[in-house]
Amino acid sequence: MIPVTKPFMPNREKLDQYLDGIYERKWLTNNGPLAQELTSRLEEYLGVENLLLVSNGTLALQIAYRVLGINEPVNGKPAEAITTPFTFIATASSLKWDGIQPVFADIDPETWCLASKNIEAQITQQTRAIVPVHVFGNACDVETIDSIAQKYNLKVIYDACHAFGVKYQGESLLKHGDAATLSFHATKLFHTGEGGAIIFKRKEDLERAKKLINFGISGPESIEELGINAKMNEFQAAMGLCVLDEMEANMAARYAVWDSYERELAGSVQLQKKSEDLYYNASYFPAVFECESVALQVAGLLKQNGILARRYFFPSLETVECLGRKDYQPVSHDIAGRILCLPIYAGIEEKAQKSVIDVIKLCLAKGRQR
Ligand SMILES: *Cc1c(COP(=O)(O)O)cnc(C)c1O
Repeated sequence: MIPVTKPFMPNREKLDQYLDGIYERKWLTNNGPLAQELTSRLEEYLGVENLLLVSNGTLALQIAYRVLGINEPVNGKPAEAITTPFTFIATASSLKWDGIQPVFADIDPETWCLASKNIEAQITQQTRAIVPVHVFGNACDVETIDSIAQKYNLKVIYDACHAFGVKYQGESLLKHGDAATLSFHATKLFHTGEGGAIIFKRKEDLERAKKLINFGISGPESIEELGINAKMNEFQAAMGLCVLDEMEANMAARYAVWDSYERELAGSVQLQKKSEDLYYNASYFPAVFECESVALQVAGLLKQNGILARRYFFPSLETVECLGRKDYQPVSHDIAGRILCLPIYAGIEEKAQKSVIDVIKLCLAKGRQR
């Protein structure tokens, strides 16, 4: 089976060298030398400051909520955060898990990001934050979101898990918001097996987060506040350093796949409309079909040919019972029903790419004959 993605496996000898160092030092976690090195190398690579490594992308979100205080109830009632229904479950479930009610606002039908025009209608006395997602690495409408946040005194936390290396107007997209969070899960463009990071706008937020990820401990004999364990260990950092060294090759390989899909399919499927002045990372290739039954037919025929396309993101999150919000989101619901993400990863065989394209074209041509 050709999967939708495969983890990038970096040079093994180099990884072994890092492992030798770990064995010599016997320093396995708690901000070890490799975690420190990865922190500064990522800050430089991404062009950001105040980056904190954490153990995964979900805890990155939760630490950001805590540091920015958006989990505090308002007048004794749970706080609310306005977010998108068209994302991975962790964006909304992390809010709910921390006692914050996710309140959905619908997406834009072309960019598939939270539509800024839908945000204000959802603001209540309880609202403390906006949690938009740079979905598939596309930039949200950061200027408008920023001005709404200022007007209503809300915090903005971008779930930027898809936006590693993305630049907007010549600068890192991760600079926007009070915080932006990354996931370094094995399936992401850049990975540490499991892992993640938070980029804070303010240095004081970074300093506080350093304590929160280490049980709230502020010194050998003092516990300053409630914390949790969200530290990245040295094995994760070693993997990250190796993957980072090969980013250029990884990206070039993905671009080649992305470009060939686009060349062949742009006329037959709906592709995501990117924001202007975006340097994109080619981490996903989402395609929207004319209706759900065509998307399902395509997925079925691909599967018969040994190829797994994923319905990603599906379902639209307002339909997920445990999130506690049922207001129908027509655009997200519609896109989620018709979307497939096609296989894209460094090292995917040319034959597999070609057969993805052929199967989709065949399926669409059959549809047209009927
Ligand atoms: C991967 C992902 C997460 C969760 O990250 P983990 O590292 O798997 O915890 C959250 N949000 C989005 C949009 C993601 O793609």
